[in-house]
Amino acid sequence: MSDDTRNPTRQRPLEVACPQCRTRVVWSTDNPYRPFCSKRCRLLDLGAWADESHRIAGEPAMDEADLDALIDRLERGGDNR
Ligand SMILES: [Zn+2]
Repeated sequence: MSDDTRNPTRQRPLEVACPQCRTRVVWSTDNPYRPFCSKRCRLLDLGAWADESHRIAGEPAMDEADLDALIDRLERGGDNR
């Protein structure tokens, strides 16, 4: 007799694919950047949106140097100390 359904309520973590880099990430409240895998990917996505108006469609949204600058700016932005 098979008894492999004896634990039907066992929770499996919900995984989603990061919209930016396709990394599988666990959707949990521990991840403030969900559905992205990281802050970097989240900012990349925001940057892509923000950049859209003055970019030619089809170009890469942002390169590494631009991203680092953006992160730097956002982390300081609005909090002038
Ligand atoms: Zn990612």
